[in-house]
Amino acid sequence: MATNNYRIDNQRINKQHTDKQHITAKRDIYLNALRRAGRRITEQRRLICDYLAQTDSHPTPYQVYADLSAQYPDISRATVYNTLKVLQELGAIVEIGFGADHTHYDTDTSPHINLICLRCHEIEDFHLTPDASADSALPLGEIQAAVSGFGGFRPVAVRTDVFGFCRKCQERKRAEIREQWQTQREALGDERQIMDAQDNEQDNEQDNQQDNQQDDE
Ligand SMILES: [Zn+2]
Repeated sequence: MATNNYRIDNQRINKQHTDKQHITAKRDIYLNALRRAGRRITEQRRLICDYLAQTDSHPTPYQVYADLSAQYPDISRATVYNTLKVLQELGAIVEIGFGADHTHYDTDTSPHINLICLRCHEIEDFHLTPDASADSALPLGEIQAAVSGFGGFRPVAVRTDVFGFCRKCQERKRAEIREQWQTQREALGDERQIMDAQDNEQDNEQDNQQDNQQDDE
């Protein structure tokens, strides 16, 4: 089970940011946040920060633990959960909740849009390309800058969620509808066969009755 999870997430990690600078910058944000919170940078905490810096798959706390423990069996679940909580409270990672037991973490606090699938809860980042024209550029960074200092507020992240259905779920839905259709048509076909059978029976009965009447006559 754990091996399986790990393999899936490895694939996810592989297609993600390979930009070393980006990863280093992200990891430094986490390490500095932990230092500010007065936490010692232990080996386990460093591993957690490395993991978070290398993923943009919006993992759940359990996913973080499962992936790490597949590689480092000694890692403590409590340390993983605690570290995530501290990082979240300091705004170094952002919580995305889908009800009490279903929290994901967005490890990227730079302005971007989360495309969230309502069906499978897969979250994909929508980043604006640097060469986006002024017309298509969304002012997420400007929003963060604009609110900075308002009432003494210090913004650390802008979260923008767009809900919808991912491509896979749309395909699954279409397949389900096709299947429902098929089942309904088969059921209708069955019903027709039953009705035909009943008609035949009635016909036979009528024939019999007629035969009997004829016999009586
Ligand atoms: Zn989906």
